[in-house]
Amino acid sequence: MTTVQAAASRIICPHQDCGRDNDAGRQACSACGGALEAFTSLYLLPAWFYNQGLLAYHAGNSQKAALCLRLSAELASSDPAPRVLLGKLHAQRGDLDAAITCWLEALEAAPRHETALTCLFEAKQILDSRKKGMKGQKGQKRRAIRRK
Ligand SMILES: [Zn+2]
Repeated sequence: MTTVQAAASRIICPHQDCGRDNDAGRQACSACGGALEAFTSLYLLPAWFYNQGLLAYHAGNSQKAALCLRLSAELASSDPAPRVLLGKLHAQRGDLDAAITCWLEALEAAPRHETALTCLFEAKQILDSRKKGMKGQKGQKRRAIRRK
């Protein structure tokens, strides 16, 4: 199930030669005293875009959802959630190839992601049944030709 994401709870100090692991929400780094406020809001962006994408997805606004989820995925490359949902959007629009690409990318970030695995399995079943359907059509054509 897709859930709203919580923002990051840790902020790594980005100031030169520091790298201290701080609690999110701190105004200044506990080691070097460098300002963290601006960076804190940067850390919030992927979750914010994901949540906007999720809202748009449930509201049926697939264009806005795709844009927000793509931004979230770009900003948080190790987070599978935006890619899983983006894949679902592609699948709903009938673009199974793009959907599969998204789910494979999600699995690169999280190899046992249950939803991504389930979606890929279902996509494979659809592709397999399409192949069978095409074979069936060819067989019917052959029979039709033979009848002539
Ligand atoms: Zn620092």
